[in-house]
Amino acid sequence: MLIILNIFATNLIPIKNMCGIVGYTGFQDAYEVIINGLRRLEYRGYDSAGIVLDKEHSSFQFAKTKGKVDDLAAISENFKGKFNIGMGHTRWATHGVPSNTNAHPHLSNNKKIALIHNGIIENYDTIKTMLAEKGYTFQSETDTEVLVNLIEYFMNKNPEIDFPTAVRYALNEVHGAYAITVMHDDFPGILVVGRLGSPLAIGLGENEYFIASDASPFVEFTKEAVYLEEGHMATISLEKGVDIRTITENEKIIPEIQELKLSLEQIEKGGYEHFMLKEIFEQPKSIQDTLRGRLLVNEGIIKMAGIWDNLEKINQAKRIIIIACGTSWHAGLIGEYLIEEFARIPVEVEYASEFRYRNPIITDKDIVIAISQSGETADTMAALKLAKEKGAFIYGICNVVDSSIARITDAGSYTHAGPEIGVASTKAFTAQLAILSLIALKLGKHNGNLSNQEFMKLITELDHLLQKVEQVLQSTHEIVKEMAKDFVDVQNFLYLGRGYNFPTALEGALKLKEISYIHAEGYPAAEMKHGPIALIDENMPIVIIAPKQGHYDKIVSNVQEIKARKGKIIALVNKGDVQVSSMADYVIEFPETSECFSPILASVPLQLLAYYVAVYRGANVDQPRNLAKSVTVE
Ligand code: GLU
Repeated sequence: MLIILNIFATNLIPIKNMCGIVGYTGFQDAYEVIINGLRRLEYRGYDSAGIVLDKEHSSFQFAKTKGKVDDLAAISENFKGKFNIGMGHTRWATHGVPSNTNAHPHLSNNKKIALIHNGIIENYDTIKTMLAEKGYTFQSETDTEVLVNLIEYFMNKNPEIDFPTAVRYALNEVHGAYAITVMHDDFPGILVVGRLGSPLAIGLGENEYFIASDASPFVEFTKEAVYLEEGHMATISLEKGVDIRTITENEKIIPEIQELKLSLEQIEKGGYEHFMLKEIFEQPKSIQDTLRGRLLVNEGIIKMAGIWDNLEKINQAKRIIIIACGTSWHAGLIGEYLIEEFARIPVEVEYASEFRYRNPIITDKDIVIAISQSGETADTMAALKLAKEKGAFIYGICNVVDSSIARITDAGSYTHAGPEIGVASTKAFTAQLAILSLIALKLGKHNGNLSNQEFMKLITELDHLLQKVEQVLQSTHEIVKEMAKDFVDVQNFLYLGRGYNFPTALEGALKLKEISYIHAEGYPAAEMKHGPIALIDENMPIVIIAPKQGHYDKIVSNVQEIKARKGKIIALVNKGDVQVSSMADYVIEFPETSECFSPILASVPLQLLAYYVAVYRGANVDQPRNLAKSVTVE
């Protein structure tokens, strides 16, 4: 069956981009196809790269290195022209630092099986312990190496089964997210792939097959592709073609072949016009990856090694100081509300640049939490060094594994949001909020401020948040896109919120400033009458974040005050809201959630609003003027 597909039609499906996979079998030089394919996937962000090739009567030839695809090419050039089957990988570290050893491919103990993997194996530690008891050893710190050995384990345990079946057995044991490609040295013509949560496409050529995280590595060779579905695996060989099965039932699937009609650039952006929009839409997935393996609702626990290993120290802290810049600073402010409410530990939030130059009082009884997407923010780094010198315990929250900040902290949590390419942070921000929620709830549970019942209620809600983020994206996208047209020519914007949503207002205003170059201010709603109210007239749009909980009645009064001065009200309210909505010029509804999580939901339409206003103004959304993704200067 051939389906002609224009991927733009599906452009609201969140796509998760972490690192890359390329595989090839056919008549061309596999080395060239794979190395060039990896180059095509470089836009996804990665920290190391590797390649493995094979042929009849020869053992695997592989090379891997920390660094760029060019570094890999430099050490593997001698493979050129010798192989017709192989696979390559760009890694974006989640488990273990970027290093030559942790780079993929990973080989099983008997060196017969090679595997590359995008994603996270959630239960890798349990499997690792089981395999270690059976004598398996591990070279790397990765979750991936556990999976390749699990396949070997199943092959050894059941000598009657074939290689793809062993892969299937192993995949049935792992939880988490993966796109994998596996090769077996005794079966040199076969590539086995599987997918759950991370994308994988199979390109169908004439006497050749391609595998890749998206179609960009093979679009120049073929326009026909099969996008592997969730929970499916495929065995690919020149001899037998593509055999797709369900991982759980081994049920045969008839593939839907799709015709690619996209340019390379369009593919890289997953069909979205900009990386920023793609990243906004990735949020249900990125938050899921942040919570993965940490939020275990069925067991009623939050598992976070960084916090767990230092629980006593953190709970005995006199205070917590959160240091950050920009968007991360806004996440820090929400962290303050969360930690003070649930753990009852005093929190101060500081701009890193101010903190470092004002001779702050820090002692060894303080915990300093540094938040930085890139982990390279110069001001945050300098502030941390200062706090460390004064004996504080340093905890890092970064998105980039093994970044400079991650390396100097005493403990920490990675946000695992995946590479963020748009300069204006979106998914990294909501991932930071998810991590801070976990920290606050874990501390609160441990020190007895949160009853078990309350804790369970909150973690269940946190677990449901992904679906609610998805709902918000679906239900607000078109509305916001339409309303943004009305604000193309305005000069100023005001964003107001109370409690947890005061920082949401700050972040909403920052997003707009960053990418549309419209002047915007965020304020606590009640502060309006202490100054900003003087600005309000019929030309001033005012975004009001007014979910049902918290200080709703007070917000209603604030809205009335704005209305009386003819300000244009854009209200972010819960579904079914009447009071605020009836006074608003524009209404954006989002589902109810616990007040402490409402910033995660409310941020999403604010990101969309900033995005569309900027697009209509013709601004360069992904690379706004004067801004850099990681600010490595003070
Ligand atoms: N979790 C694996 C690792 O840390 C794969 C990361 C990736 O998606 O590149 O090696």
